[in-house]
Amino acid sequence: MKGVLIAALAALLVVPAAAQQPKAAARVSWSTVGKPSPGPTQIIGKAAQGCIGGAMALPLTGPGYQVLRPQNRRYFGHPDTVRLVEMLGRWAVLGGHGHLLIGDMAQPRGGPMPSGHVSHQSGLDIDIWFRRSRAPLSTADLARPIALDMLRPDGRAADPERFGPVEVELLKLVATRTNVERILVNPALKRAACGMAAGDRSWLRRLRPWWGHNMHFHVRLACPAGQDQCEPGPPIPPGDGCGPDLDWWLSDEAVEALRQRLLKAREPVPPRTLPATCASVLRAR
Ligand SMILES: [Zn+2]
Repeated sequence: MKGVLIAALAALLVVPAAAQQPKAAARVSWSTVGKPSPGPTQIIGKAAQGCIGGAMALPLTGPGYQVLRPQNRRYFGHPDTVRLVEMLGRWAVLGGHGHLLIGDMAQPRGGPMPSGHVSHQSGLDIDIWFRRSRAPLSTADLARPIALDMLRPDGRAADPERFGPVEVELLKLVATRTNVERILVNPALKRAACGMAAGDRSWLRRLRPWWGHNMHFHVRLACPAGQDQCEPGPPIPPGDGCGPDLDWWLSDEAVEALRQRLLKAREPVPPRTLPATCASVLRAR
């Protein structure tokens, strides 16, 4: 039951994101601006409070991958972000793993989204679905895709029929890229990966437990070299993170923490001020 509660609460967690966005006028502008700003790529601020100038568009289809919900225009990012997706697509082709389904990256100029996410603002985040499709999805299916839950019905552990060696191989492939900062996954999936990892376990450190993330994993790249205005995420503690810290995430206390978090998410939140440079990114013609 507790697992079901975790999944249900976590699903709610993504909805109130709009409440945390800056004032309505700015929100509309970031989500309606049609194309990236001109000029070289510039990452400004952090994943949950930032923007990107000169972003690159991920082609909507490529070898081994497809972009989901292209109507939302959230397939922009730093060139390194685009290249990572393309590399993973090649992995899918070479291994016969079907097509990867790519969820949100960033809007054309990053910035806050009107729904769904607090982060994904600076062009370094990618949501990648665990579900892979054997055949390319149709336009209609891409517009309204159906996700696959990697957890057992009770939500307490990974479903071994769905989350197995290939999924762990994919997570390891991403986590061992030198330019990846962290990957967010459901704690029960991290627990499964901890159990399945053979040999080198150092990559597990970058696999960070977080609420939800049972249908997709969230990749965040590190600030690329030369991007002086890019602010990295918090440091990751040492160790593989498979011990007591992970146990906490699967405890009653974590369920209560999530409940409190959701209650807070429903309260009005003061708008987050974006770094000043973002105003010129948004205005650039
Ligand atoms: Zn995400």
